[in-house]
Amino acid sequence: MFMKNILITGGAGFIGSHLVRHFVNKYPSYNIFNLDCLTYAGNLHNLNDIKGKNNYQFIYANICDKNKIKSIFQNYHFDIVVHLAAESHVDRSIDNPNIFAETNIIGTINLLNSFKEIWFKNPKDKLFYHVSTDEVYGSLGKTGLFSEESPYSPNSPYSSSKASSDHFVRSYGETYKIPYIISNCSNNYGPNQFPEKLIPLFINNILNNKELPVYGDGKFTRDWLFVLDHVEAIDMLIHNYTENQTYNIGGCNEWKNIDLIKLLCQLMDKKLQRKKNHSLNLIKFVEDRPGHDLRYAIDIKKIKLHFGWSPKYSFKKGLEETIDWYLNNNDWLNKILTGEYIKTSNEFRKK
Ligand code: NAD
Repeated sequence: MFMKNILITGGAGFIGSHLVRHFVNKYPSYNIFNLDCLTYAGNLHNLNDIKGKNNYQFIYANICDKNKIKSIFQNYHFDIVVHLAAESHVDRSIDNPNIFAETNIIGTINLLNSFKEIWFKNPKDKLFYHVSTDEVYGSLGKTGLFSEESPYSPNSPYSSSKASSDHFVRSYGETYKIPYIISNCSNNYGPNQFPEKLIPLFINNILNNKELPVYGDGKFTRDWLFVLDHVEAIDMLIHNYTENQTYNIGGCNEWKNIDLIKLLCQLMDKKLQRKKNHSLNLIKFVEDRPGHDLRYAIDIKKIKLHFGWSPKYSFKKGLEETIDWYLNNNDWLNKILTGEYIKTSNEFRKK
């Protein structure tokens, strides 16, 4: 039987948990290993529905611990690594760049080294898939799109650390002949996103009649992609890739922050049966973030031409599903807001 052992790093986080669930449910003959050290962003409650499945295993480990990573690679026979584990929040990277360098750069190098030293002795059908961001390209002006040929020009410590990790992956491909894929994706949204990120933060604030802080003039523009479209793209690339390629993945769905926030206000007021325009009054413009990129937008021509991939979810459908999920999963949200979810992580820390 066709059998793959797939290591997904960062599988307790937002995108990772959707990817883990997708693979576990769709490919019963694959063994899916979820490696995560459960930082504040890692939450095993994201995966309650699959935790007992035969083809799923959680591995509690930190990618910065090179000896542990090496011994994990010695003990398991992975065919594919899908690497998502990272520090991912730009604001946090401005407060503490070092942890971004440690996790996103050194952690990636540790995985690459283990791949190279232990795994790659039998290279057939092996793949290192690196999940990265469009933020590595820096900022666009009012027009244009990022293509795979756009020069790297990261502006935040987060995007610099991701850019550096991309370069390391590519260089291991060139130097040590490690087969890799890098995909650079635009902003994701959907269920289970940690409520520090724009969409879940604002859903939660609107729900609780709290202020909606908008950076600068609110004209910063992002290209939004529903998380399950990203997961589909990764699945498709893993099964159809050409080695050592980079692919841009995006939603073809640009929104100025302020317009997106107004739309969220409208949709939430309707769902909560509040007076029209009630939540608009919560908007408050605040001092801009340093190094804030004006605009990101992705050209998906390459992945579309090679594989016919394009996003399936309309923004309306994705956003409605996301809002409904947060409104119906108060327990998940409250466990995060009260810090109770950390108890599950602590059980692993004690072991
Ligand atoms: P997230 O912050 O929700 O999850 C990150 C996960 O990595 C968490 O489970 C965390 O516990 C784990 N982790 C962090 N440090 C670790 C370490 N040292 N060892 C082991 N595990 C560790 O992130 P996300 O939004 O799901 O993003 C996942 C990946 O996708 C990241 O690499 C990010 O750069 C990339 N990406 C995200 C977006 C987006 O919009 N969220 C867009 C493009 C690319």
